[in-house]
Amino acid sequence: MTGCIVRCSNIVHDAEGNYKTSALEFETLTLLGANCAIQSWEDVADLDRLCDEIGLDTIEAGAAIAVYMDSGGMEWGDAEGAKNLLREIAEGTELGRAIGNGAAAIGKRQKHHRIPVVKGQALPAWDPRPLKAAGVTYCTSAMGADHTAGLVVDPGQSVDEIARASQDAQIQMAAIDASGFCQFLMPNLQEVADFYSHFTGEKVTAQQIADIGWQCMEDEWAFNRGAGFGPDDDEMPDCMKQDAIGPAKFVWDIPMDVVNAAYKRFEPREELYTGRPS
Ligand code: SF4
Repeated sequence: MTGCIVRCSNIVHDAEGNYKTSALEFETLTLLGANCAIQSWEDVADLDRLCDEIGLDTIEAGAAIAVYMDSGGMEWGDAEGAKNLLREIAEGTELGRAIGNGAAAIGKRQKHHRIPVVKGQALPAWDPRPLKAAGVTYCTSAMGADHTAGLVVDPGQSVDEIARASQDAQIQMAAIDASGFCQFLMPNLQEVADFYSHFTGEKVTAQQIADIGWQCMEDEWAFNRGAGFGPDDDEMPDCMKQDAIGPAKFVWDIPMDVVNAAYKRFEPREELYTGRPS
């Protein structure tokens, strides 16, 4: 945003001071780094730069490379091989096109059983196995596994809370996106309403802003239905249900009736207006 005082974008140079890339962010470091067992941040910076030049999302690219590695196409941690894979996208080879079309496409090409996508979009670094409400967002968001659609970073919520927490976060993010604010500034809905009240000279309420967010979500869901998406596309992939993570051995174990509760609007509560998206 013009005049932003956060200025979150970093600029990365090598040891000799030469420009490598901008910005090298946490999702990129995770998906193109640890997710592919690539250890050097400088290699990840090179991969990030290649993604920028080719026009790729780094989450999807990292997931696609990792699926290719997991399927036996390449050794884990092969940084130079990963860079060459990205170059193949630019060259338009058959393998490059599959990688460039993302984790679902390369997984299908490889006939691989473990493909971490929802609605064809790769899971980001925010793992839904401990972060259940974030997982509900991935299943019900029109974009699929989109961490910008309503992230909830709270692993301690009960099953009774997660659909509502996801819906609140999705309403907040849709409203913030629609209002023109950057989500990294994390305005709450009351602050967005106050801004527009001053901006227009007319009273705008947080309820109105929340309603705009909900309307965005309904419009996007209607678009998806028209494009042929159905209930089966809301499923978390089997690998998230079967492969446990961490000492607590988290798996995705949320029944679809709990997930589907996020599609029906809850009675708004105060936290929807005053809470900040996480
Ligand atoms: S992405 Fe958002 S927080 Fe970062 S510099 Fe731009 S406006 Fe500011």
